[in-house]
Amino acid sequence: MALNLTILGSSGALPAIGRFPSSQYLEIQNRHFLIDCGEGAQIQLARLQISIHKIDHIFISHLHGDHYLGLIPLLFSMHLHKRTSELHLYSPPGLDEIITLHLKYSKSVLNYKIIFHPFTPTKIKTIFADEALTVDTVPLIHKLDCAGFLFKEKIKPRRINKEKLVEGMKLQQIASLKTGSDIFDEEGKLLYKNENFTLSSRPALSYAYCSDTAWNESMIEQITGIDLLYHEATFMQTDITRAVETKHSTSMQAAEIAKRAQVKKLIIGHFSARYKDLNMLLEEARAQFANTELAIEGTTFTLTD
Ligand SMILES: [Zn+2]
Repeated sequence: MALNLTILGSSGALPAIGRFPSSQYLEIQNRHFLIDCGEGAQIQLARLQISIHKIDHIFISHLHGDHYLGLIPLLFSMHLHKRTSELHLYSPPGLDEIITLHLKYSKSVLNYKIIFHPFTPTKIKTIFADEALTVDTVPLIHKLDCAGFLFKEKIKPRRINKEKLVEGMKLQQIASLKTGSDIFDEEGKLLYKNENFTLSSRPALSYAYCSDTAWNESMIEQITGIDLLYHEATFMQTDITRAVETKHSTSMQAAEIAKRAQVKKLIIGHFSARYKDLNMLLEEARAQFANTELAIEGTTFTLTD
């Protein structure tokens, strides 16, 4: 299992009974990320029995309250649970000031260190990279500077075909085969031809989180061909005027972006509290892009490589 995405919340700004504001938990390559942290995110983590100790990186798309007001209580809970490992926070500028002010007036000093990674939401930037994956910002169009996040696995090594391994092969030679190289002996004679000992590498998976945004054609190029797209669908097409006013998208627009970007699967969310029946939003999206699902609290989407 290479990627698990669990929806903690997918409601718009106003409270809706039974729903929570934006927050998602992403497990990818054994890394544990939180994406946005709306009010009640830690309640949802507890309910779904997801340990807060695993989370070392939190990505906040923008500083509207429904995307980060669950963060302060989560930070205090981590402190009360005696966390000592560093926590990395990625957000538009200002989050450090907000958190510092809370700590100042509650006369608190956290047991652990927070490392802030402010980014400029209007530009594409790689904000996280390690040996297995990268995270890039996806500039969005909203009332406040806002960026989505594109999580991409790096190209994976070729797989060794265990049945073909021969006795006497050295570990170093096997490592070289994984990188796609042929193996030569000391005189430069071909010893092991790569394609005889390896299988093709597993596909590198990709997921983009895009909330909040108005209709935004400019992001299509960046997300073309990805495996999974979460795109906000705050309104239905019948409420397009509200969507334009508030710089949000309709379900139909989200599906149109998914179609044009030729993504494999679309998840819609950030639903306005006005809609009691979310199936209407789903039907609207599916008419444009069939492989669409609703972001329902507690649902986990899994991609296997
Ligand atoms: Zn917003």
